[in-house]
Amino acid sequence: MPELPDIVVLVASMNEALPGKEISNISVHQSKVLNRPITTFRKEMLGRTFRSFSQRGKWVISELDTGSMLAFNLGMGGELRLHWPPMVPDPKRERVVFSFNDGSQLWVHFWWFGHVHLLKSGELSSHPQIGTLGIEPLSDKFTEEKLVEMFEGKRGRIKSYLLDQRFIAGIGNVYIQDILWHAKLHPNRQAKTLLVEDVKRLHHAIQHVLREGIKQGPGPGEQDVWGNRGQWGKQPGWPQIAYRTGKSCPTCQTLIDEIRVGSTTSFLCPRCQV
Ligand SMILES: [Zn+2]
Repeated sequence: MPELPDIVVLVASMNEALPGKEISNISVHQSKVLNRPITTFRKEMLGRTFRSFSQRGKWVISELDTGSMLAFNLGMGGELRLHWPPMVPDPKRERVVFSFNDGSQLWVHFWWFGHVHLLKSGELSSHPQIGTLGIEPLSDKFTEEKLVEMFEGKRGRIKSYLLDQRFIAGIGNVYIQDILWHAKLHPNRQAKTLLVEDVKRLHHAIQHVLREGIKQGPGPGEQDVWGNRGQWGKQPGWPQIAYRTGKSCPTCQTLIDEIRVGSTTSFLCPRCQV
């Protein structure tokens, strides 16, 4: 599932490729991905142009020339890809296809579940998922003090908080691995045992790993709107710990371990992370 860095990379490519393209046709092959009836959706979208794209949590938010917004959530294994003739979409695979007046098409593929939600201006904050998203970890509001405050009174496992989209938006089970390693925190560590220094280290690790992810991105299995893939696993040092079971910890050479934490897998250095 794409996480914040992957969405930032995708959005940057969409901002280069798509603004100004006029939607001349729409094919919907799976109506449940929409939040409106197909006829209403088509009527609202035909003739519209994409103005710009932005990232919010794991969502791509596009602004249309009418001021309405189209919010995409790719779920697991989803893709947003720009194609040109003679490529022809497979209706069984592509859930929604936007055709543009220049002949190109935006193919929306979801493997597991995904959303293409049309929102009128002002409806973003009341959207059941987008409206409840937590703080953006690369925003100015996300300071060390803010994170200390957010963990006050919290008792559960830190990994559960970091993956909770209502707590912090955009982190998933890929980037969290290196975040916890950089922070020297065990994924099972209880929030109530965190000292201020731990939270400050965690804050730094979150921003460092997400920024590095954007620079190297997108992450494993992800691609931008043209289909370009990132540097994940192609060069030493990226990632440091995720999916590297049995390799050495870059800091202490202890073998990287893999454990279950709740319903998720965690990769960790059993010596560095406490
Ligand atoms: Zn180590």
